[in-house]
Amino acid sequence: MTETLFRDDAYLRSSPATIVAVTPEGGIVLDRTVLYAQGGGQPGDAGRIVRQGGLAIAVANTIYGPDRSTIVHLTAAGSAVPSPGEQVTVELDWEKRLPRMRVHTALHLLSVVLPYPVTGGSVGEGEGRLDFDIQEAGLDKTDITEKLQALVDRDAPVSFRWITDEELDANPGLVKTMSVKPPRGSGRVRLVEIEGIDLQPCGGTHVRRTGEVGTVVVSDIEKKGKQNRRVRIKLV
Ligand SMILES: [Zn+2]
Repeated sequence: MTETLFRDDAYLRSSPATIVAVTPEGGIVLDRTVLYAQGGGQPGDAGRIVRQGGLAIAVANTIYGPDRSTIVHLTAAGSAVPSPGEQVTVELDWEKRLPRMRVHTALHLLSVVLPYPVTGGSVGEGEGRLDFDIQEAGLDKTDITEKLQALVDRDAPVSFRWITDEELDANPGLVKTMSVKPPRGSGRVRLVEIEGIDLQPCGGTHVRRTGEVGTVVVSDIEKKGKQNRRVRIKLV
């Protein structure tokens, strides 16, 4: 089992860790990591695994293992292969991660500006999107941008807490994303709260205050079928 340090502190950029296993493909499993594993529409992090002596192994992407209890750090072909038990330092590519945290948090705000069921979404590089289950056309880019930026500018604190599966079942209205159910099985679910604005289950990485999103605009609104609108945002 890999301890998910990024979930308790999204700003943590490095940590000591121990190599637990190396997959046949050269993927490295650690006992703990600061690298977000791809999921929930957010890409896996890049970074480095630094060995004692200072030699670094580049991590191109981070994914869950087959049973989702471990996290696998994917390295380039030909990388050095460490041994289980080896003590290392795992380092996050923060320059890549921070814009993803800003976009991800902005998508929470977008789901408040457009309070419709969400059928999908993703975080890209400096941009992201949500798909809404709505029929009506006439969504206005400028209008949504203004409302979104107004929420950003409230500089509301973003925090999280854990609840039990039973508490979530008792409050089904918390789940906005129909296609991405909150992860089950661990007996607890992480609720992310943007004070006075939004509360929903989410396992992603967020900024600490909405003001850190910066300037964001709606870049595109696409019709995806009769009952679906895709709204794209980007950082500027
Ligand atoms: Zn989130």
